Amino acid sequence: MASTFQRRLIDALGTDVARIEPADLAAYGYDAYKEDGNASAAIVPRDVREVATAVRIARECDEPVIPRGAGTGLCGGAVPVKGGLVISFARMNRLLALDVRNRRARVQPGLINLELSSAIARYGVFYAPDPSSQKISTIGGNVGTNAGGPHCLSYGTTTNHVLGLQYVDAAGRIHTTALDDVGYDVTGLLVGSEGTLGLITEIEVRLMRLPEAVRVYVAAFADVESASEAVSAIIGAGIVPVALEIMDKLITQAVEAHYHAGFPADAGAVLLVETAGPLDDMDDAERIIAGIAREHGALSWRAARDAAERAALWAARKGAAGAIGRIAPNYYIQDACVPRTKLPAVMKAVEGIARHYQLPVGNVFHAGDGNLHPLMIFDRREPRQVQAVIDAGNEILQTCIDMGGTISGEHGIGYEKRKTLSLVFSVADLAAMARVRDVFDPMRALNPDKIFPTGAVCGEVKASTAA
Ligand SMILES: Cc1cc2nc3c(=O)[nH]c(=O)nc-3n(C[C@H](O)[C@H](O)[C@H](O)COP(=O)(O)OP(=O)(O)OC[C@H]3O[C@@H](n4cnc5c(N)ncnc54)[C@H](O)[C@@H]3O)c2cc1C
Repeated sequence: MASTFQRRLIDALGTDVARIEPADLAAYGYDAYKEDGNASAAIVPRDVREVATAVRIARECDEPVIPRGAGTGLCGGAVPVKGGLVISFARMNRLLALDVRNRRARVQPGLINLELSSAIARYGVFYAPDPSSQKISTIGGNVGTNAGGPHCLSYGTTTNHVLGLQYVDAAGRIHTTALDDVGYDVTGLLVGSEGTLGLITEIEVRLMRLPEAVRVYVAAFADVESASEAVSAIIGAGIVPVALEIMDKLITQAVEAHYHAGFPADAGAVLLVETAGPLDDMDDAERIIAGIAREHGALSWRAARDAAERAALWAARKGAAGAIGRIAPNYYIQDACVPRTKLPAVMKAVEGIARHYQLPVGNVFHAGDGNLHPLMIFDRREPRQVQAVIDAGNEILQTCIDMGGTISGEHGIGYEKRKTLSLVFSVADLAAMARVRDVFDPMRALNPDKIFPTGAVCGEVKASTAA
């Protein structure tokens, strides 16, 4: 039997928008992280008014609200861990306006990231943030997590490309922010807030001109450490390619078996480099970068022949996580950051941790940003292995912190990492953040159980917030 909350949603929005059947709700109970939840109801709105109406009903019925993009998040951010209303933006997926002269576009949150760049390429512009999930993840979800991607090394992450927003607050009111707003940077606050401050219903994005020339290179190294040394040296020399990505042998072999893109599958590590800019600069950049790679032990160096080969190499790199499905029943991707110069040391430490826990580990990462993604392979049916993955993951995070790094490079905090937030922030810092949240959402109805730690620290946060 439908609950009062479910009936009110159906009455207000109809069965085309509101979903209450368990079989329908099951689709909104998970994301790419392992945690499952049970939504009390879900809506797939067509416009901002339907979002606002649903938020008001949820508030009156005391139900939390959880925004959802494509559900590719890797830390449980879109999971209704304790029930509530899931708002899926799948149907609000249009490019609303394109202003090529001012290099701006206005989009709805459910627009798939890659579809934006594909739609506007003929005007000579593109949208730079390119998470490896860009074929399926949404721009709203990317804004929610402040997503990064291989090309964020020189272009910056999502926050550098969002000019303004429309959002619905916890009371169901509609607000807008814009580039020329004076005062506090509310746009900046909302980007990366993982659905805890507002539901983003429109996004004004910055576009970039397609570069005159693009080149992609593949270098083979004996091991990840020497490839990482080369990355540090390239940037240390004052050159910032648009992407510097590393894959170790386990990942390269899985990727090659699946995509046949032409990566050297017998190498200990592969460095993928992309440069972009004026044609006249390309040869100099290649000479310097290839020279540094050789000085740091590159066993081979080659340039992709044409656009088709460049696209094939990138499709394979971005499909690395999927290719692991060929060799493992389950995998867990850790996301952490260290200063770039610490990459060789942290890669050695990760190897030691994996050996200690007897876990096969592959590495595929945004090396230029110092953003590592150890990918641990395990079998979820084996409780011992599950515990080993959790313990190894925590040890890797602590190692990164000890090296001056942090607990997430791009995937966010979500449900998974909320306990680890207190490893990098003091109680006073957490309390300040909690106060900001309370300004937007005093009842903590928007995506509760995300970002903020629970338990003792949460109690302390509450106490200092009340003070
Ligand atoms: C194979 C694979 C590769 C990946 N590669 C990368 C990568 O290179 N870089 C990277 O950063 N991430 C990567 N990710 C993680 C993930 O794709 C990103 O976090 C992405 O931004 C999530 O987008 P989504 O549309 O799936 O959002 P979801 O997972 O649905 O949601 C993500 C978060 O945003 C919130 N949210 C969603 N929509 C809205 C909205 N309209 N308003 C407010 N909050 C909202 C959700 O509540 C949740 O907290 C990868 C994931 C996979 C599976």
